[in-house]
Amino acid sequence: MAGASQEHMAEKRKFQAIKGTRDLLPPETELWNHVEQTAREVFGTFGFGEIRLPIFEPTELFARSIGTDTDVVAKEMYSFEDYDTSELLELLESRKAALAWVDSPVSPPYGPLGAGAQAIFQPFSTAIGNVVRLGLDAFQKGRIPRTPDNERLLTGLKDGIGTFVGSINSRSLSENRQAVNSLKGLVSQLRFGDSLCLRPEATASVCRAYIEHGMLGLAQPVKLYYTGPMFRRERPQKGRYRQFYQIGAEALEAITPNTDATKSLGKDAAVDAEVIEMVMTYFARLGLEGVQLDINSIGHSAPECRRGYVEKLKAALEKVKGQLGADSQRRIETNPLRVLDSKLESEQAIIEKLPRIGDHLCADCAKHYAEVKRQLELRGVAYKENWRLVRGLDYYMRTTFEITARGLGSQNAVCGGGRYDGLVELLGGPPTKGIGFAIGEDRVILSLLEAGKGSAAQGRDVYIAWMGEKARATAIRAARDLRQAGFRVELPPVEQKFGKALGQADKLGARYALILGEDEVASGEWTVKTLADGTQRKVREQGLVESLRAGSKRQEV
Ligand code: AMP
Repeated sequence: MAGASQEHMAEKRKFQAIKGTRDLLPPETELWNHVEQTAREVFGTFGFGEIRLPIFEPTELFARSIGTDTDVVAKEMYSFEDYDTSELLELLESRKAALAWVDSPVSPPYGPLGAGAQAIFQPFSTAIGNVVRLGLDAFQKGRIPRTPDNERLLTGLKDGIGTFVGSINSRSLSENRQAVNSLKGLVSQLRFGDSLCLRPEATASVCRAYIEHGMLGLAQPVKLYYTGPMFRRERPQKGRYRQFYQIGAEALEAITPNTDATKSLGKDAAVDAEVIEMVMTYFARLGLEGVQLDINSIGHSAPECRRGYVEKLKAALEKVKGQLGADSQRRIETNPLRVLDSKLESEQAIIEKLPRIGDHLCADCAKHYAEVKRQLELRGVAYKENWRLVRGLDYYMRTTFEITARGLGSQNAVCGGGRYDGLVELLGGPPTKGIGFAIGEDRVILSLLEAGKGSAAQGRDVYIAWMGEKARATAIRAARDLRQAGFRVELPPVEQKFGKALGQADKLGARYALILGEDEVASGEWTVKTLADGTQRKVREQGLVESLRAGSKRQEV
């Protein structure tokens, strides 16, 4: 009976999209396609080519590039262990048995357990024994990662279980339980596969691909763009999702030794300005409203530049520590630059009085920043300087920018970008410069919809109202010809009464109904009804496409 009712419940279970993810449906998907297609067109005109990247990558790639002490890596990654279950079946079973085991004591809980202990703990020591035996074998054969950690844990378990079994009788129940827990702790740390994760962003993947495919041998800079879903376990709200979509671009350039520093500063500034010009051109083409570009320079990671500034900032923050909130107080130690991100009302006046990075840039970084601004002006790109726009990671340098748009409430950043000359090298590649950005596609779409720029309900151009079996073949032929000419055609699978057909055509938002009854088929004079005004006209088969094209043009005018 219980089984039957469980089955019944399973049947009735309603599946829903996971929190923070959503289905994108027509007609909105037309707008998504338009937004992506426009990116392809605009980025193409700037010489960027598309790169398609895997959705999952080694966790380590992002841990290294984004930093382990960032929210994204520390809290928001969807990571999992990847291993071949069939190869590790027995090992997985014994791990499960060891971790799930709890004792059910038959002896009094105080004092040494004596001979009864063996009986109580036998199943646990067997399970651990299996983990050690199978684990060592899998380690030797390379079926589990041959990492120093795994080696240490397996050795620890082997020694630990020996001690455990040897002293079990002389220990009390609680002492034995402690030993069980520490052995379980070791088992749970064993890694059975590589740690992979759903990508939280794509810059690191582009850099990995640049290295992997030896792109430094290509004409530099290598200019790539991507589109696709990213995954972060954030608290969902309007404009913030756990699966969201980014459109991004990166320009990567191998660093050639002994180049003239002044020349290279000017060149970098021009590349930065062009990348920014490209995003702004794209947003203008989309008709995004209320677009604002904020820029800043965060210098480079050196004592005479950003590091020196961070020291000064930290000292200034220490002085006002008591007036700051808990988050900012913590950040004075972990990442003082991030205090500048604070949106807390009570901290704003204090932050405004803090030292500004613009006053502490080294000569080269100051020169580069001035040149970026000049290059933006040359391109007619309006910008606003925002000294609080910062990034907390060492390899970010000089240019940072953020673009906001209208209609998005507090999540109004639609694009973030910047220069990251050290990143490729950090990921094991050659010295390489990089500049890029990522656009939040979901937010761009929200802003366009908010401004009433969504596409109209996805309609049909022609609804074919056919009646009578004799008209079927004609209707099929008409549908094929019209589709070949690019019209969106609905051909009902079964004949319908005239009234029902017109009702259906209306519901689908069709422009025309092509009426094919037995009379029309016999005479070769087909009827086209314009649904907006109810007018009808007769057309012959050869003239159908032309006639509808002419009609569509008139309507567009
Ligand atoms: P980031 O990769 O964090 O620099 O973000 C770049 C852009 O991606 C942001 O300006 C947002 O437009 C967008 N974005 C970041 N996280 C999310 C999210 N959870 N949901 C929607 N859009 C996001």
